[in-house]
Amino acid sequence: MERDADQLSAAAREAKERRNRQKSLDRSRRNTNPDQYQLSRAQKREQKRRKDAGLSDRRFVPAGPRKTRKDDEPVQAYRHDRLSRSYRKGRAGAAEESTGLVRTRRDRARAVAADLVATHGPDLVVEDCNLTAWACQWGRSLHAFAPGTLPAALDREATATAEQRNTDGGVRRASTRTTALSQHCLCGHRAAKTLGQRTHRCPRCGLEGDRDAVSATLAAFVNVDPDKPATATLDHTAARQGLQHPTMWATRPDHPTHQGPARRPVRANRKPTPAPP
Ligand SMILES: [Zn+2]
Repeated sequence: MERDADQLSAAAREAKERRNRQKSLDRSRRNTNPDQYQLSRAQKREQKRRKDAGLSDRRFVPAGPRKTRKDDEPVQAYRHDRLSRSYRKGRAGAAEESTGLVRTRRDRARAVAADLVATHGPDLVVEDCNLTAWACQWGRSLHAFAPGTLPAALDREATATAEQRNTDGGVRRASTRTTALSQHCLCGHRAAKTLGQRTHRCPRCGLEGDRDAVSATLAAFVNVDPDKPATATLDHTAARQGLQHPTMWATRPDHPTHQGPARRPVRANRKPTPAPP
């Protein structure tokens, strides 16, 4: 789910284009409805200077706030503003662009979901993350990731694949409160770490690996009622057995805290193959 340098710079470019478009729409509205806006402080100063110097009045495109009534509502409702042809054209373009953006994001989520289901099968466990809390913490930067899009795509893909294969499947959500996957080791030891620590190092069994990879592996040993995330429990015995098998553990350098969860919205992994009796 991590975005590479090209995707990041493309996103920054798009964001800048959006801001510029918004600015030019605002300028256009002010230009066609100058009576609805106040002059900015600099414009007022300039107007006074010209008057004092005996120069003729100059027409400004007002850069100040909207003229409002006592109750802070605009004197004239925005819907009664005159809008130029270029404004309408620009606004239609912006609407089209944002539809395209939503579509791109959704297509990408579908591709990632298809890839995950193809690799790990249609029976998946993800952490039941509280997106509202994330939105409170990270605000608008969350928009770039739209973390709700992937679980939705994953759920659809897994259910469809399971139906096709005539097996059980779908996405089960596991409460992070009862499992604390990122804080545990496969050996059962509680290896507490901050959000910024991206590498798991267990003092007890010596397991070292990417924090997310370890959490995802642990998720494969979670038992949970499909409709009740709070019933999730970690099967430590099965996890310890999983530790016996040689696994590839990739390490990544630590990241600053604020980039933590937003980079990796969900974790998914294969259900453990049942141990032979
Ligand atoms: Zn351990």
